[in-house]
Amino acid sequence: MREADIAESKLVTRRGTFSSVAFRDEPGGPEHMALVHGPRASEDVLVRVHSECLTGDVFGSTRCECGEQLDAALDAIVDAGGGILIYLRGHEGRGIGLVAKVRTHILQDEQGLDTVDSATSLGLPVDVRDYGPAARILRYLGVRSVRLMSNNPDKIEALESHGIAVSARVPLLAPVSADNIGYLTAKRDRLGHDLPQLDQFVTEP
Ligand SMILES: [Zn+2]
Repeated sequence: MREADIAESKLVTRRGTFSSVAFRDEPGGPEHMALVHGPRASEDVLVRVHSECLTGDVFGSTRCECGEQLDAALDAIVDAGGGILIYLRGHEGRGIGLVAKVRTHILQDEQGLDTVDSATSLGLPVDVRDYGPAARILRYLGVRSVRLMSNNPDKIEALESHGIAVSARVPLLAPVSADNIGYLTAKRDRLGHDLPQLDQFVTEP
C-alpha cells in the first residue's frame, strides 16, 4: 500500500486510546480502518476482522449480532491490553450492499426466508466478502500471526489464503434473543459458524 493511501492518528474513545489507521486499499474502493490498541506486536496478535453492518453496528439492530460482536471485540482488546480491530467497509450483507441487504430483510419478514435464501431468491450471492484488504492492512501493521476473534471458520481460511497465519480462534459469542435466533441458527446450520450458545437457548412457547 502506498503511503499516500494511509493516514494515522490518535483516537481517544470511551473505552480508551487507540491509533486509528485509515486505508484506501484500491482507487475508488471503500476505505477501511484499523483501530490499534496497546503495544505493537507481530505474532499472536488479538484481532477482530469486522465486516461493516450499518444497521447493527451504528443503529443497534437486534436482527443480527454484528453490533454486539463489535462492542465485545473492542472490549476484549482493551481488557487484553492490546490488539487490533479492522473495520472492513463494503461488506454490507456479506458484500451485497446496503440496498440489497434491506431487500433481504423484506423477504425475511414477509416470507420467513432465512439470511441465505433471502439473498439467493433475489439472485444475489450468499457471501462475496473479500478479506484481501484485511491481510494487506495486517501486513502493513507488521502482523504475521493472529488470534482471530470469530465464529466463522471460512474467515480463518480466507485470511490464511492471503498470507496471515491464524494461531488461534477466539469465539465471540453474542447473547441469543428471540430477535436473532433465526439469523444465528441459519449462520450455524447453513454457513458453518460455530455458535455453541444456541444449544442453551429455548424459544418461549
Ligand atoms: Zn449485521
